[in-house]
Amino acid sequence: MKLADLSTKVGRFKETDVQRFFARLEEKADGPLVNGSRCIEWRGYTNEKGYGRIAMKGVGHIYCHRLMYELSHRRQLRFEDVVMHVCDNRLCVNPDHLDLGTVLMNNQDRASKGRSAASKRGGGFRLTEEKVAHIKMLLGEGLVTPGQIYRNFGITHRQLWGIRNGRSWAHVKYNDRDQAMLALWD
Ligand SMILES: [Zn+2]
Repeated sequence: MKLADLSTKVGRFKETDVQRFFARLEEKADGPLVNGSRCIEWRGYTNEKGYGRIAMKGVGHIYCHRLMYELSHRRQLRFEDVVMHVCDNRLCVNPDHLDLGTVLMNNQDRASKGRSAASKRGGGFRLTEEKVAHIKMLLGEGLVTPGQIYRNFGITHRQLWGIRNGRSWAHVKYNDRDQAMLALWD
């Protein structure tokens, strides 16, 4: 998708805010083609993890790639929805480079890959603070059961047990939504 083709259907956002968002996007002229188009990068504020973020009236702070996903698909994301970058460029908001990955959405394949990779390494699945925050949030808000976490995330029983009883990752809080929103499952 080209910058010029982007629609400005605003949904729950104020049109002036959406225009402000669009004014700070720039199509990368020399970047690689991904799904037939180049990255469209955010030129405004980025957090320490390198993700763009913007304040929208009536909504609050929102990650730019999530905002673009909502605008281009005309639907509001649920908190547990994870928007992933196909292009691995965190600044990119090109809708064609964004993929929705609900953690419970047919992740069997990915999970089994993760598990077999983990068992090959002889250790556990690689967890990060973001992933743990996401797991804690999903469990804490009753969005999923531990069994669903085990089946869909590709972590080991031992890792899940450690997270749940606080033996490991105790410093990661489940209500850190900001952190949990950054979880990328791949
Ligand atoms: Zn991109």
